[in-house]
Amino acid sequence: METRKIHEERGVLLLGVGGLGCAAALLLVAAGVRRLGLVDDDRVSLSNLHRQILFRMTDIGMDKVTQAGQRLREQQPDCQVEQIPRRLTERDAIGEVAAEYAVVIDGSDNFTTRFAANDAAVAYRFPLVHGAATGGRGQLCSIAAGGQPCLRCLFGGPPTQNTATCRSEGVFGPLVGEVGGLMALEAIKWLHGSGQPLLGRLLTIDVTTAKRRIVPLRSHPQCPVCAPHHANIPDRAAS
Ligand SMILES: [Zn+2]
Repeated sequence: METRKIHEERGVLLLGVGGLGCAAALLLVAAGVRRLGLVDDDRVSLSNLHRQILFRMTDIGMDKVTQAGQRLREQQPDCQVEQIPRRLTERDAIGEVAAEYAVVIDGSDNFTTRFAANDAAVAYRFPLVHGAATGGRGQLCSIAAGGQPCLRCLFGGPPTQNTATCRSEGVFGPLVGEVGGLMALEAIKWLHGSGQPLLGRLLTIDVTTAKRRIVPLRSHPQCPVCAPHHANIPDRAAS
């Protein structure tokens, strides 16, 4: 079976059904993605609704994955939506679930999950689409094993001091839609093996000035996560 067909059947895993995850999920299902896994253990709250566009007032207090799954099936009954009501914050736990999918989108709202997903992508050799949005600024890139830089090359690890997050600082709802949409696009590139994924490049968006930049990323030669894997090419994404 050709690689593209295998990837399409394995589908996309979404870590977090927040603002980024809702936007990405809607667009992926609308685009015809056949299989989608939704990971989140949270419930819908009123403060979510301005940016988490899968949810309505009547969903408040309900499980996010249940409500999101129902809405996505209504949109496209042919899409296989799998609900995973768990909080995955460790590398191996993420790696085990991710093994069932072709691509992973990290739309989580915390640094622990973000770096655990990064570490899992390199160790378990799956393509990861990273994205984040806080205030008026967003960013995204792809992480993949096989000689490509990872988030720890860039940031080292989770911040030790209080750092602005979507939860602490708020975010423009439309920005989350834009970054989530670009994450869906990035995942489709991986599924189809087309275009140029944002490997070794970080796309930054500032909606207050309408500026976008592509920042080149470099592998850190002493990166504890990806440096040991740099010689192990090809990776799963290219198989
Ligand atoms: Zn690295």
